[in-house]
Amino acid sequence: MVWADIIRARPKIPAALGAELEPYPYLSGFGLVQRVTRLTSLLPSHVSRLGFRNRKVVDVLQATQRRSKPRDALLRVLGLQDTQVATYWSPEYWCPVQTQDLFHRQPRPARRCPDCARYGYHCTLFQLPSITHCPWHGRKLEQHCPQCGHLLHTRFDQKGQLGRCACGDDPFDAVLASVEMWSFPAEHAEGWIEDYLSWAVGRRQSRWVCAPAYHPGWDEAFAALATPPARLQVRNPGEALPIEIFSGAGVDPAPRQFWGWASWGGERPLTIAPLPSTMYPKLCEATKEVVEALPDQLRTPFELAQAHDLQPRATLRENVFLRPDCFISPRGSGGSATWLNLSTVEAGLAAFCGQVLDDTAAHLGPVRTGQDRSLQAERSSAVDQIQGRRHLSFALESLLAVAYRQGLDATLRSKLGQAGSPTKARRAPVIELVGQQGRLRAVRVCWGARRDLGVST
Ligand SMILES: [Zn+2]
Ligand SMILES: [Zn+2]
Repeated sequence: MVWADIIRARPKIPAALGAELEPYPYLSGFGLVQRVTRLTSLLPSHVSRLGFRNRKVVDVLQATQRRSKPRDALLRVLGLQDTQVATYWSPEYWCPVQTQDLFHRQPRPARRCPDCARYGYHCTLFQLPSITHCPWHGRKLEQHCPQCGHLLHTRFDQKGQLGRCACGDDPFDAVLASVEMWSFPAEHAEGWIEDYLSWAVGRRQSRWVCAPAYHPGWDEAFAALATPPARLQVRNPGEALPIEIFSGAGVDPAPRQFWGWASWGGERPLTIAPLPSTMYPKLCEATKEVVEALPDQLRTPFELAQAHDLQPRATLRENVFLRPDCFISPRGSGGSATWLNLSTVEAGLAAFCGQVLDDTAAHLGPVRTGQDRSLQAERSSAVDQIQGRRHLSFALESLLAVAYRQGLDATLRSKLGQAGSPTKARRAPVIELVGQQGRLRAVRVCWGARRDLGVST
């Protein structure tokens, strides 16, 4: 749909200064509120007339991105309720993957183009970490104030306005934004937007991303997974994080092989679980790596010696050299599964394995029958009906190996009074599932640094 059709049902005369839509294709709700509040110089008390009754706390970006009372009120006040503009206010609409609640888990800073900001213009497309440059101006998008480095606010300031930093930095130019509004290069990006949207809409039909709930800093990994093809890159986006891809020909695990995985992320933290026997060598290798990165003469902590039956007089390195499986104590290898002690696995990542399994079952598994079965049985049998589940199995093994390495490293360092690992910062994954109901074609995994955006709530 072209912009003229999207805004066809608007009032002939804009309901407020700043609410002109024709020159500003795909203007976001945040951009619209910014333009109206800046150009009409509303008194703070009048902001509530736009629908934001609680102007001191409302996050305008969040409130306009999905259906909400303030959003409905805003559309009504400006006479835009019958237009399609609000469809383009959701980041989900611009995403090449289905993101569930990812953009709404916590407050996020505004991302803006410095040239667009002079017009008070903002597009929800900019909120995608995978979009690095403005398609209209080619400028690099920013989420920090260029003067003071603070994250860009998404709330009204003391004077009831948006888009100004507390330090005084303010790119908005009232003359440019109103009298000279037609100088906005609206047509520049039209072809690009059409091409981008048809790519994104087509692509997300069969793609879902999953990021751990405990991990707020998913931006970089998401950007790598959702990056547009070269023809849609406005400028060179710079180096992206590497992506691990699990796909291709092979044999799927036999039924009930996911039983062990399905017990993850449950109500109780898991300590002993049956896992594919291919996990065993990977975890032994990880144990050696973690211990070898520590100083070589470290004693074996008494607690660990007791818990894992180690020689208290030998160094940690000697103990691990003799028994690299000492922390996982493999037991009862019944066929293809081995029972492993996973008490040193990082808890958040372990729960995430369960979340990935749940998401796979929800998006690609059969429709739920509602039979009275345990969650574990439900998960495991749903995944058993998906072709290509081997990709999930390999991805989970890779996840668990990292979860184990990071967990063991943290446990050993805290017991030994060593500082945190200087070289390998702890990382968190974002996972993309590719397929359709009944068939998983690939799993893509990207690991990002565990960094919080630091937006205060
Ligand atoms: Zn721009
Ligand atoms: Zn500032």
